Amino acid sequence: MKQFQGSCHCGSVEFTFSVPDIDHAMRCDCSLCSRKGMVMSATVVSPEDIKIRCEQGVLSTYQFGTETARHYFCNRCGIHTFVETRLNPGHYRVNLGCIDELDALRLPEVIYDGRNL
Ligand SMILES: [Zn+2]
Repeated sequence: MKQFQGSCHCGSVEFTFSVPDIDHAMRCDCSLCSRKGMVMSATVVSPEDIKIRCEQGVLSTYQFGTETARHYFCNRCGIHTFVETRLNPGHYRVNLGCIDELDALRLPEVIYDGRNL
């Protein structure tokens, strides 16, 4: 497992997570992700493998449709940092753009069929 560290743009939300590796990314074509354009982790992160630290009151969630998935964002800088997935509540996909050490936009990508989920 490799550990990665991410943060929102203003630094109010920070998170650390472990995955086997990050050699590709995922984009989702659902109505929300199409608008965000977020490059997400292809791997789903288990609750025990992610630690989230944030200033009180800055982490907001947005939910739509079945309201199962929780889309977290920093309400100070507006950056979506991670999402609690619809199929695995309590498990996360993270916004790879939040990781400084990663060239997220240059990773090979797969498109997730969120539109038809
Ligand atoms: Zn922020």
